[in-house]
Amino acid sequence: MITFRNVSKTFTIGKREVHAVRNVDLTIEQGEIFGIIGFSGAGKSTLLRLVNVLEIPSAGSIEVQGVDLAKLSPREVRKVRRGIGMIFQNFNLLTSRTVAGNIAYPLKLAKVPRQKIKERVDELLRFVGLSEKAKNYPEQLSGGQKQRVGIARALATSPDILICDEATSALDPDTTGDILRLLKKVNKELGITILLITHEMHVIQAICDKVAVMEDGEVIETGGVFDTFTSPVHPTTKRFIRSIQ
Ligand code: ATP
Ligand code: MG
Repeated sequence: MITFRNVSKTFTIGKREVHAVRNVDLTIEQGEIFGIIGFSGAGKSTLLRLVNVLEIPSAGSIEVQGVDLAKLSPREVRKVRRGIGMIFQNFNLLTSRTVAGNIAYPLKLAKVPRQKIKERVDELLRFVGLSEKAKNYPEQLSGGQKQRVGIARALATSPDILICDEATSALDPDTTGDILRLLKKVNKELGITILLITHEMHVIQAICDKVAVMEDGEVIETGGVFDTFTSPVHPTTKRFIRSIQ
């Protein structure tokens, strides 16, 4: 479970203040697929970076799996991060390592014994349907295959939470569908909570249980996906819904 309590994040650039996240209250329950939608600059990535302790809130508090993220030691921060997998729009794969090498990487960092790493990598390759590509390099893969590697790598250390930052934005519609189905499988079969951000309402519609709409750093509407689609309140939410009809 992730809880935001009146969280704000302000960046100061010279004399200018940017209110990237403002007074956000949100609860993401264990096992949910929770979508956050908003236009560019709405504060979505900043919100995710706060969960991962890559940013510290200017005000308010955040709890991840019962741990208050304020004042953690570096060691406790590493522990929180190990429980959170992350995938990205541009995949962020290591180009000099094979598919298997990319998936093994977080396990090597965690000093898992070699034989255990091999078993885990094989298991993850099967889970994402890429066993045949183990020895290929990222440049030899399609975008969808690269994102499968990204997902396998994010799952390597058995996180409880998977964070997806525009994970399908670089993919065509069919490939997007495949990746969303894989994320659904991650959620259902492994019980992993998914926090997904996007600017595409059809992605929310396809897999999310709940949605929060962000604008100018604020959450302007939140609720179940069905209710939000059938009776949106805020004009921005209505705009997002119109974009897929
Ligand atoms: P996009 O859809 O384009 O990825 P976003 O919703 O993820 O946008 P954020 O990246 O969270 O938006 O940015 C929110 C606001 O905070 C923007 O105005 C951005 O310029 C600002 N911002 C984000 N990170 C920083 C930073 N490290 N320093 C200064 N300003 C920042
Ligand atoms: Mg972003």
